[in-house]
Amino acid sequence: MVAPKQRKIKKRMRKSPGGRTGFKPKEEKAAKRLCALCGGGLHGMSPKASKKTQKRPERVFGGVVCPQCVMILMKERTRMQAGFLKEQDVPLTHLYYIRALERK
Ligand SMILES: [Zn+2]
Repeated sequence: MVAPKQRKIKKRMRKSPGGRTGFKPKEEKAAKRLCALCGGGLHGMSPKASKKTQKRPERVFGGVVCPQCVMILMKERTRMQAGFLKEQDVPLTHLYYIRALERK
């Protein structure tokens, strides 16, 4: 009997080097790495690089936030420091990252 966990796994016919044929489970594609703010794809991240120890862009929030969103965060932080923007005007999701920038 097939394990309940493996019932939904797609299978494909494969031939072994010994000449035997049989169904082998199809490998699932790893999900694409997405930006934490806008949900767009991240460049420089392989889909399999899910671990934080693997190589990723060395930018601020590299591997978490896309460069376009980092640019927006930098602008908002600078405007807040200059007094042109208030904390209430910045989206809450951005505020978390802006505070993390100030801690560095
Ligand atoms: Zn983004």
